[in-house]
Amino acid sequence: MKIGFIGLGIMGKPMSKNLLKAGHEVIVCDVVRAAVDELVAAGAKVAASPKEIAQQVELVITMLPNSPEVKQVVLGKDGILEGAKAGLIVADMSSIAPLVSREVAATLAEKGIEMLDAPVSGGQPKAVDGTLSVMVGGKQEIFDRCLPVFQAMAASVVLVGDIGAGNVTKLANQIVVALNIAAVSEALVLATKAGVEPELVFKAIRGGLAGSTVMDAKAPLMLDRKFNPGFRINLHIKDLTNALDTAHEVGAPLPLTASVMEIMQALKVDGLGDSDHGALVRHFEKQAKIELKRCPV
Ligand code: NAD
Repeated sequence: MKIGFIGLGIMGKPMSKNLLKAGHEVIVCDVVRAAVDELVAAGAKVAASPKEIAQQVELVITMLPNSPEVKQVVLGKDGILEGAKAGLIVADMSSIAPLVSREVAATLAEKGIEMLDAPVSGGQPKAVDGTLSVMVGGKQEIFDRCLPVFQAMAASVVLVGDIGAGNVTKLANQIVVALNIAAVSEALVLATKAGVEPELVFKAIRGGLAGSTVMDAKAPLMLDRKFNPGFRINLHIKDLTNALDTAHEVGAPLPLTASVMEIMQALKVDGLGDSDHGALVRHFEKQAKIELKRCPV
């Protein structure tokens, strides 16, 4: 299929490379020239604007930071809407506010353009491996047409409801991840302060009920003091902001999410907004005046 891909960051770069590997023709666009050049070297074609991409393809994928960027790229000047013909499909794989997905889809529908919201989970390693989880909102028929494309980037692709449902699911995912990282952090700091090696605690509990994909991914990075992203605290703040806003609109209080949000805000003030969200442990370490480390060899 001839596919447009807009947003070649930590996630978009490996995702678009996997589309090329699967034999799709890919036309890319990003505001960062170096990212575009890397994709061109991998076999992609380049377009000057989202409008120019929309004029040439059947499907446009966007992988942008948040709602304002998606609105700009889809509905703004030289955006997708300006170049699109009826029948084009826009699959927004960014994590944005569900309400904005619905608004953008409604504007596109006036011109006969279809939209799916299809955010992902799995982070950069799974984007590279092509084993992401994709949670999709939209019409069954449009989902069926895009499924082979998603499968080139993902191990799991699930249609969860109408437009906006993909991003509601992603907010649920981000709550579970944030609270899980906070719980792992708090537990390993307690163990360290109480004189037990955190690496051995991790080894002892990871196979039991407390174990999780989050624990397996983040505890080793905390022990190795590796806080380069990965998934930036600033992006997680964006997701929790969207979660809290959506929750307040529908009347679902989120007390635990609100607590972890404030910890992330404190880390941002400390200059750690661009660190991986595993750096949440540093908040608990600061309070307990201790640092995690590997067992002495
Ligand atoms: P990123 O900041 O690395 O990449 C975003 C890209 O969009 C950048 O290359 C930027 O230059 C480009 N961009 C911004 N505005 C643009 C515009 N107007 N036109 C063209 N390009 C533009 O972010 P990321 O980590 O790749 O995340 C992308 C999305 O995926 C976010 O919504 C994020 O929450 C979500 N996500 C990220 C991860 C992760 O682990 N990084 C995991 C799952 C989901």
